[in-house]
Amino acid sequence: MEDDIESVVWSSGQISDRVSELATELNYDFSIESTSSSPVFVGVATGAFVFLSDLVRRISFPISVDLIRVSSYGFGTLSNGNPSISSDLKLDVSAKHVVLVEDIVDTGNTLSRLIEHLKSKGASSISVCTFLDKPSRRKTVVKLVGKGKFYRGFECPGYFVVGYGMDFAERYRNLPYVGVLKPGCYQEVSEELPKKKMHTSI
Ligand code: 5GP
Ligand code: MG
Ligand code: MG
Repeated sequence: MEDDIESVVWSSGQISDRVSELATELNYDFSIESTSSSPVFVGVATGAFVFLSDLVRRISFPISVDLIRVSSYGFGTLSNGNPSISSDLKLDVSAKHVVLVEDIVDTGNTLSRLIEHLKSKGASSISVCTFLDKPSRRKTVVKLVGKGKFYRGFECPGYFVVGYGMDFAERYRNLPYVGVLKPGCYQEVSEELPKKKMHTSI
């Protein structure tokens, strides 16, 4: 697996330092926000699972945690423009402050769809905490709800990255750092593509 990595973009040490800074910001912002009920941290499966677990262990106020799953047709490095909710929340978020935890915001289509969905469930505010952000590739303006804020770990250049929860064809999620794959590794899977048209979770 490590042999497939062309270069490391963020090491596990750099990631850990940045996640601590993000948690400090959230701890501060939510300490000044007088709220009677615990905010709900909603991780977007599968990609956000590593970031979510690192982040919530640094949060010092009471929270609930839930997961949501979004699907999109495609198996390569692009998501399509019409994501749908394939597994919904277990918790009721009406009148709750929600922090949506994402691995990476690319076009913004997935996030916009999720925000619309959580807004329709009556969340009183929706913040976004994304590990990576690729603003250069944005196609949709991400509109937060209420006093929601946008938190991001790192700004990511427009290329495709893997590791720290993020996959290519469901592999590499368990790498403790973020890296770029060698070109041959994308090819190996793309050559299998014409045989399968898969409905995958992004
Ligand atoms: P969007 O809907 O913003 O275009 O895409 C969001 C989703 O696409 C992310 O949550 C992630 O699952 C996937 N994605 C976008 N860019 C990358 C990337 O560079 N690497 C990986 N592994 N997934 C990405
Ligand atoms: Mg994601
Ligand atoms: Mg993916």
